[in-house]
Amino acid sequence: MQQQIENNQTGNNIYEKRLIGLRAKLREINADAALIAKRENYIYLSGFTGTFANLIITQDSAFLITDFRYVEQAAEQARLFEIIRYGGKLEDTLNELLIRKNVNILGFEETHLSFAEYSKYKEKLSVKELVPLGGAVEDLRMVKDETEIEIIRRAVQIADNAFTHILGCIKPGLAEVEIAAEIEYSMKKQGAEGASFETIVASGLRSSMPHGVASEKKVELGDVITMDFGAVYKGYCSDITRTVFLGRPRKELEHIYNIVLEAQLKSLEGAHKGLKGRDIDHIARKIITDAGFGEEFGHSLGHGVGLEIHEEPRFSPGSKQVMENGMAVTVEPGIYIKGVGGVRIEDLIVINDQNPIVLTKSPKELIVL
Ligand code: ZN
Ligand code: ZN
Repeated sequence: MQQQIENNQTGNNIYEKRLIGLRAKLREINADAALIAKRENYIYLSGFTGTFANLIITQDSAFLITDFRYVEQAAEQARLFEIIRYGGKLEDTLNELLIRKNVNILGFEETHLSFAEYSKYKEKLSVKELVPLGGAVEDLRMVKDETEIEIIRRAVQIADNAFTHILGCIKPGLAEVEIAAEIEYSMKKQGAEGASFETIVASGLRSSMPHGVASEKKVELGDVITMDFGAVYKGYCSDITRTVFLGRPRKELEHIYNIVLEAQLKSLEGAHKGLKGRDIDHIARKIITDAGFGEEFGHSLGHGVGLEIHEEPRFSPGSKQVMENGMAVTVEPGIYIKGVGGVRIEDLIVINDQNPIVLTKSPKELIVL
């Protein structure tokens, strides 16, 4: 019982910190309250994991509005929130709270609210002004706390184990969809809630498609096989890519593999706190460009991972975001040549001063099955 109480207190501290962070952002943009409806954002701020909720957060209060299905669960999970059940129109319930808390300026999630919802709120809500929150919650979510890092570490471990498992399964004649199914089955057996995105298995010439989802094509001797997948664990995602060979690789693909691997390892070494996202992208891009394949590396080096599979910050040519300790980001250079094939290698790291924590443990040396 004592343990239980301590756990709840630690849990509350995490959410208290997050609310303090959001309230500081509200003061910056002169908003009296925030209306939060994006699922990842309300999970982050309240702990409530149901599929429907709206939060209203002011400087001295926090409300979670949901319907009858979730009232009990919300009371259990969102300890710092006053739970409001609504049955009629959502905007009427919102209005009651906004009036009760004297909210004049209400911040909303401009990348989430639909135009129809925005128009309705503009007409129906009794506030003077609706202002964009400007990614306030997403900014807070970029830097992961210890609890989040431990959950992501487990999500990565589940994917690592699935990779080890699949290496023992791949043989000529197996279809890409069967490989994908086996990967996802392995992750679920280990406690994953599901796959963090549609599993990519692209073999042979299909591997030149960076996002080739698994097809009915059967793998055959001489194929290069790119597998990109991840697990969702306690709401958090992982993301890994490995490229393996079924039988001896063609010289050209082996050459490409070594360049991608060098670019990946050097980027890991160089992912320091204080650098901008574009500086880290540049490390891999320079190596690949100098080797003559700049045009064949057509995507960013990496993306943030957390409650969403793609979130801030980015390792991209345009990113001015400064890296801070605790940011969880992928490092995934690739080279794709139409008519030949493609190679990508992806790890998930956490920025930590000069030496990032590399969560992904699966081997990266060229694997021939
Ligand atoms: Zn991936
Ligand atoms: Zn990725």
